[in-house]
Amino acid sequence: MSLAENLAVIQQRIRAACQRAGREPRSVSLLAVAKTHPPEAVIAAADLGLSLFGENKVQEAKAKIPLCPGKLRWHFIGHLQSNKCREAVEWFAMIESVDSLALAQEINKRASAAAKTMPILLEVNVAGEASKFGYPPERLLAELKEINALPRIEIHGLMAVPPWASVAESSRTHFRRLRELKRECEQILGAPLPHLSMGMSGDFEVAIEEGATIVRVGTALFGTRAAAKAAARTDEIGGD
Ligand SMILES: *Cc1c(COP(=O)(O)O)cnc(C)c1O
Repeated sequence: MSLAENLAVIQQRIRAACQRAGREPRSVSLLAVAKTHPPEAVIAAADLGLSLFGENKVQEAKAKIPLCPGKLRWHFIGHLQSNKCREAVEWFAMIESVDSLALAQEINKRASAAAKTMPILLEVNVAGEASKFGYPPERLLAELKEINALPRIEIHGLMAVPPWASVAESSRTHFRRLRELKRECEQILGAPLPHLSMGMSGDFEVAIEEGATIVRVGTALFGTRAAAKAAARTDEIGGD
């Protein structure tokens, strides 16, 4: 299927999930996860009307973003090392994967130096997986006020990557947990948090039913990343 066909199917599925949940389709943003895919794929997606893109590596993003239309917005969705914060602040409109006070402090410092305010989401390790990044929920609640007090950081909500599951329905309890956690955070902060970034190619409809405002979709839109890598290798061999 072409990118246009993939996008049409995804948008139809988003609309249907919104209808089931009694939500406005406008309340869900589709974030196109472009990691491993070339700038041409982003340009084609932008031509189809997409404006929100995600990358999980700073190095890859800073090579790709300058080759893409300047009007696009980019979210960082990967594990961020403190020595990459300066560049992340420079290239991204939002960092979705903040999972420690130390990281938030470093972003705050770099944003201050760049005379910016950085919108962030706090990433939560919803299933307590040892192999995953993300805040354990208790620590998030304990550190939330201190993060919120950082002058150059704006907390916009929560993000999670639940355990991989072959059945989308298995993610529902994790999405629900993230939504409940957002409510607890709102109580602590005494202010609403607009965003829940949850749901990927395999489970974004369930995420929407549970309140996602940002769904991060890569494979269902651009195809598999293995195929993208193989195509890049062919390009290298063949030259241009
Ligand atoms: C790669 C990635 C996605 C997209 O995953 P797909 O299954 O390809 O849609 C979403 N979120 C994060 C954090 C990712 O790293």
